[in-house]
Amino acid sequence: MKKFLSILLAILLVLAFVGCDNASNQEEVTPTPNATPTATPTAQNGTVDVTHSLATGTLAPTVIPTAAPTAPTPTPAGNGSNASEHQHSWGEWTMETKAFVNKPGADKRVCSLCKQTETRPRSANATYNSFYDFGYQYALSNDGALTTFGVFGYACSALGQYSYKPTPVATVVNELKKYFVFDSQFEAKLIEDMKKYNYNAQTDEITLEANAESGDFILKGFKHLGGNKYETYYKFSGFDIFEDLDLLYKIEVEFNRDKGQPNKMLSCTLIQSLPSDMTACQEGERME
Ligand SMILES: [Zn+2]
Repeated sequence: MKKFLSILLAILLVLAFVGCDNASNQEEVTPTPNATPTATPTAQNGTVDVTHSLATGTLAPTVIPTAAPTAPTPTPAGNGSNASEHQHSWGEWTMETKAFVNKPGADKRVCSLCKQTETRPRSANATYNSFYDFGYQYALSNDGALTTFGVFGYACSALGQYSYKPTPVATVVNELKKYFVFDSQFEAKLIEDMKKYNYNAQTDEITLEANAESGDFILKGFKHLGGNKYETYYKFSGFDIFEDLDLLYKIEVEFNRDKGQPNKMLSCTLIQSLPSDMTACQEGERME
């Protein structure tokens, strides 16, 4: 009987001990919920993920890599274990989408080991992407006026899709109407000008040939007038057959490039100096 009691006591003690152990386990687990899903091994994975993700800057410290919104769509397990086994080997940042003045673009880089991607907002070249049009230098006269011969010059320089191949005059004129505002009188004069150069009267087609550059034509900045109306400021430094030129233009445009359409020139005037309240282009901007 004594022996039975002592065995029973021993069993009770063991049970009590196990119960206590379970209780203490639960206490340990609950404060660190991120360690719960995959038990012991995750404690290790978890630590690696934290430093890893902190270094890359995309992930919240307690989130495993699969939760990152920019991750492609690898299997959760695969991606998780990859991330725990390597430091990402990021490639160069490359442009994914262009920046415009009214919306940032995006840069992307890819890990060469696990193909995970990371993105960041892009602002480079936003002003040039939005407004720069090198063809304007051909469209504008030295006193700032838009001329029919200038618009024809614009077509030759900027409408590359028609270069060096016979194109119906009407096709070119209709395309130019997306870039400029002109009335029927201007249009008639434009067609008359076009027919003096590389024109085939039998087919009513013209072959456009590109113009040579005659100087530096750069965008300096812009002002937002409201809606999709902007004032843009250009500097032309160059020469014509008579003299050296140093001109400043204020060109008002309807901004459509953010919607994949050409900007339309609304008006142009020569100015003496750039406005102090314009938003200036960044150093070295170019069109992408
Ligand atoms: Zn990686």
